[in-house]
Amino acid sequence: MSLDAVLSRIDQDLEAATDRLLTLLRIPSISTDPAFKADCDAAADWLVEDLTSIGFDATKRKTPGHPMVVAHDTEVADNASPHLMFYGHYDVQPVDPLDLWDTPPFEPAIEDTAKGRVIRGRGSSDDKGQLMTFVEACRAWKAVNGTLPARISFFFEGEEESGSPSLVPFMTENADELRSDVALICDTGLFGHDTPAIVTMLRGLLGEELTITGPSKDLHSGMYGGVSMNPARVLARIIAGLHDDEGRVTVDGFYDDVPELPNSLRAQWEDLNFDHKSFLGEVGLSVPAGETGRSPLEMIWSRPTCEVNGLWSGYTGDGFKTVLPSQASAKISFRLVGQQDPLKIRESFRAYVQSMLPQDCSVDFKDHGASRAGHMSTDHPAFEQARIALSEEWPNTAAYVGCGGSIPIAGHFKNILGVDAMLVGFGRDDDQIHSPNEKYDLESFHKGIRSWARILDAMSK
Ligand SMILES: [Zn+2]
Repeated sequence: MSLDAVLSRIDQDLEAATDRLLTLLRIPSISTDPAFKADCDAAADWLVEDLTSIGFDATKRKTPGHPMVVAHDTEVADNASPHLMFYGHYDVQPVDPLDLWDTPPFEPAIEDTAKGRVIRGRGSSDDKGQLMTFVEACRAWKAVNGTLPARISFFFEGEEESGSPSLVPFMTENADELRSDVALICDTGLFGHDTPAIVTMLRGLLGEELTITGPSKDLHSGMYGGVSMNPARVLARIIAGLHDDEGRVTVDGFYDDVPELPNSLRAQWEDLNFDHKSFLGEVGLSVPAGETGRSPLEMIWSRPTCEVNGLWSGYTGDGFKTVLPSQASAKISFRLVGQQDPLKIRESFRAYVQSMLPQDCSVDFKDHGASRAGHMSTDHPAFEQARIALSEEWPNTAAYVGCGGSIPIAGHFKNILGVDAMLVGFGRDDDQIHSPNEKYDLESFHKGIRSWARILDAMSK
């Protein structure tokens, strides 16, 4: 088994690999729009056929929505280990507004840009280009060595961009078949331009909506102003009280289950030299607004938040109206980390709001969902092996990073199957996923394939 031979096979085969990706990109597998149901099916069929062609027992599985694709290697060497389950999604986001695309979204092409060659088209980065990096690595490895160095299975979903309604039931029903030593997920990005990243922390989310009611109807401020309680004033006080002067959230017990960052991880993050000035500068800001004494990366990846996402009351149309509103409302979300319990925080938040209500005011709450933070254990040796292998392919050393958003599939692998997920991705910040003119750097695609070959080699030793 020679890694070098596999890597040069990947280099030689890049044009053919790109052509295969372009073929998959031509299938408009938009999962949210029923008009594209047959296309989602066709994308699943294409993957089944492609995986079959490299020696996998690949099947399309029915769900109430779009099908899953599950595949297992039929040519497993006796000593192949560990067992790795690779996850990706073949569905894509809708393309509108169509007139903002410079080229038709489902007529993908290679384009020369100032920053290098790119593959332009919907799904090129999210997630067809990314999932094909692993398929191509397996193809090259098999072409050179006959069998793969680890036991590989595939699990592709077709509803990721539309809320994954069939995912949990499918994983629960097929738990034994989908279980592996480690799950690999390729749907994230590099850090900056040249630093490979393994995401190990994902923040959870709690959504709350509250409406405060004062007077039984809207009033005229000339007649009632001064004597009646204004719920907008009450809501403003409540919101103002959610943070202290140090930027900390004041909800009772909020930081109880928030861990401090381990020193080793803090050092890795410092080495990333995150340029918060340009990160904030891009959106017209200059000063990090989180907790005093925390680095900007900590604020985004490892600290919990409380944010106002919507706020309304009284008259907001053109002109002016001297109304005293009967109601005031807000939508408030919390990003959660560590072991924070969303239900405990909801209770504590609601108790705080109740405690701030003056006489004659009442509050109604609406629940907008709650999920815990995800924390990937990196204890399995595969994680450190992958980090070293990635560092050999890319200019910069790979890092374990956090992710401000949530990637539910990682939690499902852990909670349903008991398997830790390794999130390695080769997307770039400017890929414009979910937007017009989505692209994937040809370099990301090429080095992504090479990265997986190195990772497989490292894990099998
Ligand atoms: Zn995706």
